[in-house]
Amino acid sequence: MNTQLVEGKLREKLGQLEERLAHVKKDISKSYSSDSAEQAVERENDEVLGGIGQETQSAIEDIRAALVKIGEGTYENCSNCGKAINPERLVALPETGHCVACAGD
Ligand SMILES: [Zn+2]
Repeated sequence: MNTQLVEGKLREKLGQLEERLAHVKKDISKSYSSDSAEQAVERENDEVLGGIGQETQSAIEDIRAALVKIGEGTYENCSNCGKAINPERLVALPETGHCVACAGD
């Protein structure tokens, strides 16, 4: 497997995710409206943004972990059991750190 190519793709994706996270953080309301109906909408909106933020954050962490594994030369091995991860799985899900059995998906 050409990990250099994968690394380039992961770094590109990481940059996009970091940008998205920065936008989400900026969009979350710092203060709420004094109108209670308005405030309910704002809080709901923040909950959605918070969910997106958490997903983005966890995707960023997965990619960082994958980049560390590439650096260590263990990218093609499962972080949990150490067995080789199916290359097709790595192509489809480059930031996965786990084999199918350990990821449970
Ligand atoms: Zn495994």
